[in-house]
Amino acid sequence: AKSKGRNTFEFFSQAINRGVRERLEIENGLRDALKHGAFRLHYQPQVDLATGSIRSVEALLRWRHPVLGVITPDRFIPIAEETKLILPLGLWVLDRACHQLRTWRNDGIAGIRMAINVSVKQLQDEAFFEALGSIVERHGLSGSDIELEITESAIMENLSRVQAILKSLRDYGITLSIDDFGTGYSSLGRLKLLPIQSLKIDRSFVRDIETDQGNAKICDGIIALGHSLGLKIIAEGVETAAQKVRLQDAGCDAIQGFLIAKPLPADEAAKLISRVNAI
Ligand code: C2E
Ligand code: CA
Ligand code: CA
Ligand code: CA
Repeated sequence: AKSKGRNTFEFFSQAINRGVRERLEIENGLRDALKHGAFRLHYQPQVDLATGSIRSVEALLRWRHPVLGVITPDRFIPIAEETKLILPLGLWVLDRACHQLRTWRNDGIAGIRMAINVSVKQLQDEAFFEALGSIVERHGLSGSDIELEITESAIMENLSRVQAILKSLRDYGITLSIDDFGTGYSSLGRLKLLPIQSLKIDRSFVRDIETDQGNAKICDGIIALGHSLGLKIIAEGVETAAQKVRLQDAGCDAIQGFLIAKPLPADEAAKLISRVNAI
C-alpha cells in the first residue's frame, strides 16, 4: 500500500510538473510569438437570416507553437490575460483585423463589418480607447466598421468598471455584442444598463436545439428577451440545417457556425463572401 501511495504521488507530481512546464512554455512562447509574428487570424462569417448575405466576419486568433504545435485560444488567452500580454496581443489583433478589412475593401468586397473579440482586461486599460481609435483611422476605417465581442461573464463581473468605456466605444460608432450569452447570469435590469446592440447565444444552447426541449426553450427565451430590448440575436455554433431552420422559426437574426464555414484564412474567407453576397 505504501509503494502504491508513492506511485500515485509520483504520478500526480509528474502530471503537475508537466502542466507547469507547459504553462511556462506557453507564457514564454507568447512573448516570442508576438515578436516573431507567429500569430494568424482566421475569419468566420456571420449570415443574416433575413437576406442570406454575410454582413460580418469574426476574427479568431491562431497560434502555431514551434514545440507544442497549434495551440487553441482557449488555452493561451487566459494566460495572456494573467500576464498582461493580452494588451499588446489584443492591439495586434485589432491592427491585423482592420488591415484585412481595408484590404478587402480595396479589392471591392464591401458591406462587411469586422467582429473582434476583446478581453475585459483590454477594456480596463486606460490607453485602450485611444489606441483603438488610432488603429481604426490609420486603416481609413471608422467605428461603424467594427464590432467588439465581450463575454457575458466578464462584463457582468466588472459592470461598474467597464460601463464608461462601453459608452465611449458606442459613441464612436462601434457595435457591441455580448458573447457566450446565457452562461453568465445577466439580469434584465443590468442588460438594460448596457449600451449594447446584440447578443450571441452560446454554442452550448444551440448544439442540440432540435432534440433538447430545454435548450430550445432557452434559445427562444433569449431571442424574445433580446428583441424586447431592441437587440439583434446571433446564434453561434450552428452546425446543421435543422438547427438553422429551428433558429429561423424562432426569429433569430443571424447565424454563425460550421454549417456556413469554419474559421477560414483570409483568402478563402474573401472567396466565400464574394460568392455568397453575389447571389
Ligand atoms: P468565441 O468568441 O465564443 O468563438 C467561437 C468559437 O467557436 C471559436 O473557437 C470557433 O472556432 C468555434 N466555432 C465556431 N463555429 C463552430 C461550430 O459550428 N461548432 C463548433 N464546435 N465550434 C465552432 P476558437 O477559435 O477556438 O476560439 C475560442 C475562444 O477564444 C473564442 O470563443 C474567444 O473567446 C477566444 N478568442 C479567439 N480569438 C480571440 C482574440 O483575438 N481575442 C480574445 N480576447 N479572445 C479570443
Ligand atoms: Ca466571439
Ligand atoms: Ca461565443
Ligand atoms: Ca466562447
